[in-house]
Amino acid sequence: MRILTSLVAVVVAALLLTGCSSSAPTAQSSASAEESASGDDFKKALAKSEKMDGLFTVYRDTTDGSVHLEISEDQLGKEFIYFTHTVDGVVQAGHFRGAYRDNAVFTIERHYDRIEFVEQNTNFYFDEESALARAAAANTSPSVLHAEKIVAHEDDSGRILIKADDLFLTDALHQVKPSPNPKAPPTAFKLGRQDKGKSKIRSLHNYPENTDVVVDYVFSNSTPLNGGGEAVTDARNVTITLRHSLIEMPDNDYTPRFADPRVGYFASQKTDQTSTSATPYHDLIHRWHLEKKDPDAELSEPVEPIVWWIENTTPERIRPIVKEAVLAWNEAFEAAGFRNAVQVKVQPDSATWDAGDIRYNVLRWTSSPQPPFGGYGPSFVNPRTGQILGSDIMLEYVFLTNRANYNKLFDITGLTSLNDEMPSDMQKGAMCSIGTFMHANTMFGRTAVRALSDDGPTGLDGEMTQLMEEGIYYLALHEVGHTLGLMHNMKASQLHGPDEVHNADMTRASGLTGSVMDYPAINVAPPETKQGQFYTTKPGPYDLWAIEYGYTTDEDNLDAILSRSTESELAFGNDADDMRSPGKAIDPRVMIGDMSADALQYAEDRMGLIGELTPDLVSKYADAGQSWQELRDAYGIIMGQHVGMMQAVSRYVGGVYVDRGFVGQEGAGDPYTPVPTEDQKRAVQILETHLFAPDAFDKPADLYRHLQPQRRGFEFFGDSEDPKIHAQARRAQESVLAHLLHPNTLERITDTRLYGNGYRLIDYMDDLTDAVFEADANSNVNTFRQNLQLAYVQGLAGVLSEKGRKMYDPIAQTAALHSLNRIEDMIGDRRGVNAETRAHTEHILLIVENATSVD
Ligand SMILES: [Zn+2]
Repeated sequence: MRILTSLVAVVVAALLLTGCSSSAPTAQSSASAEESASGDDFKKALAKSEKMDGLFTVYRDTTDGSVHLEISEDQLGKEFIYFTHTVDGVVQAGHFRGAYRDNAVFTIERHYDRIEFVEQNTNFYFDEESALARAAAANTSPSVLHAEKIVAHEDDSGRILIKADDLFLTDALHQVKPSPNPKAPPTAFKLGRQDKGKSKIRSLHNYPENTDVVVDYVFSNSTPLNGGGEAVTDARNVTITLRHSLIEMPDNDYTPRFADPRVGYFASQKTDQTSTSATPYHDLIHRWHLEKKDPDAELSEPVEPIVWWIENTTPERIRPIVKEAVLAWNEAFEAAGFRNAVQVKVQPDSATWDAGDIRYNVLRWTSSPQPPFGGYGPSFVNPRTGQILGSDIMLEYVFLTNRANYNKLFDITGLTSLNDEMPSDMQKGAMCSIGTFMHANTMFGRTAVRALSDDGPTGLDGEMTQLMEEGIYYLALHEVGHTLGLMHNMKASQLHGPDEVHNADMTRASGLTGSVMDYPAINVAPPETKQGQFYTTKPGPYDLWAIEYGYTTDEDNLDAILSRSTESELAFGNDADDMRSPGKAIDPRVMIGDMSADALQYAEDRMGLIGELTPDLVSKYADAGQSWQELRDAYGIIMGQHVGMMQAVSRYVGGVYVDRGFVGQEGAGDPYTPVPTEDQKRAVQILETHLFAPDAFDKPADLYRHLQPQRRGFEFFGDSEDPKIHAQARRAQESVLAHLLHPNTLERITDTRLYGNGYRLIDYMDDLTDAVFEADANSNVNTFRQNLQLAYVQGLAGVLSEKGRKMYDPIAQTAALHSLNRIEDMIGDRRGVNAETRAHTEHILLIVENATSVD
């Protein structure tokens, strides 16, 4: 595989030839004629400038701050790496401190009297043995990012001078202002126009291998419609600060490693255009360049370890926890043959470098007004090879706090990924919402520990400390995992059974989950069970195996490592496989917010816990001299946990277990195995009991009448302060119905009958209709159930609507029609019910009639 790097170089050269090389010689000779006095041109242009040596020599005018860039002739046509990240921004504009953005390959070309910065396409691979490689540039268009007139050129030394202000102060290298979101309301927060007069190059940092330029972009709008919230000081002028890094292409013997569908690494995807394979993938995983100091030793220290710096903004108390968590990854590297691969240092307060310096990998701590995450672990790479060149981890202080600073607590189930709200160019990186998700879960843990404790809020040090320490530990383990190249593994919480997960002796030894790259539910023990680990504190068996694949230096052993992928503890499924959104993906074991190999049992246990702690909430949160804010938060947190569990349960209906084992691989099962009928029925049963039943939302009236937020200024304007109890329950039920009645779910139930599913759609719909209507078919219907039944009937009517008929398969339409007719039979001649239930029945029957009449 060593050949690969040189192959890449050949392809690169081929790509470059197509640029402007044919005209270049003429251009150079004509230019040099004019430049006989070029030494003077340099002097004139740089008379008042300071010189800074580095990858590209940079000059800064000491009077007006303008910048010149010097390019040497031997840098023309060579590839460089471009990387940019946000130093500071406002979250509303898609920029936040530490956000990694573009990461590309560019060349610098000369065309007559100008210099061009050209981004190269790195999406394709051509085998140099193939004649096709000569056509490598066909129909892939390099992008000219910027062209700049040459100010001076010196023939003897080959120095070329250009002005660099426009290169950095415009959107040439990177689109700073997000493209308008066509779905955003007209009053959404927007950046104004970039104001060149106010924008400036803030600082320059020059090193032998990278030239960095930090730029303040100021966006002005004299009449903003939206003030942008507290974090925006004045929406008329908003500053976004970016750091651009121009980086030398590494010259080393790094060997790229190929991606494999059975193990989860981020990768630079390249399609092999010279291959006839059905899978012409030449995808190179992202990993660090680790070499053994002693290549013959089974276990050796690396020549260059991966060094992490704990930023000096990190609260003192948690530094040792973070350090220990990072070092815990060394166990995984030992399986790959490296001792002390990862090291941790603390950034001294006297450090002369800042955390934005790309030469340092920094674990950063911030406390932002509106944290876009609780943790984030991006890295930047050489797009040609996948080699990771640098990385940072952003951790948000909000994770440690009890401040539920979200507008709608109910929304922090963690299931609504913040990724969805991020501009698309940021999703390309390792955008991770684990912190937000874990914050919701950790707050649930705190609520449970407090509500179940006899000691009152001051006597909780033991379990509360354990919970917070394990939470920080897990967050750091997870984010470091990303920076080592690992993507999410949302299947990893399947490692142990629902009882074993509470056995701390067992989980401390093997890991509570197969991987730290999952978003598991916090592991709070149900009533009558001793509390075990809340979160895992070590890389799990999958992590050790994945690191072995990614980092072993024994290239001959890779297939043997991959052949183990069918072992149950190495189970893997990434974000594309997970079922967090209704109708998305198919394997219910690949889910966030679940836990154990029996997520259905675990959800029932969690509902038992919620049932146990709810009655005592008011007394536990009655703190003399305080408002009821914490109680209101606790209620929202519990509701979030309730619906999260029910969503996990619902995914088993129509689910399919996926096995990605290759043909002939030992232990590989069928690629697709429908969830057993009894488990699908059990899921419907659990949803009936805990989400649909007339008593599913029974809570003491004493609780409801205390759900009062603390007043601050005029914050209740436009959104009245009383708890929206019915709306919350309805949203919980509707969010689950969205999956249960999703076109994909219904169609899959029918499809899977062809390969093993014994649950016919018609039977499933009967069970679902019973769950929603049977309990009170002949009695009064309470207000929660009225909402549920209306939502369900409207969902069925939707299947038969004009829009629905385009989305649902005919068998699903038949099942919906059948269900509506059944409902009419069940409640059509209700007798002896109160006036409220009679009115509700009329409403239902009207919807049934409208939906089922032929139009
Ligand atoms: Zn993550």
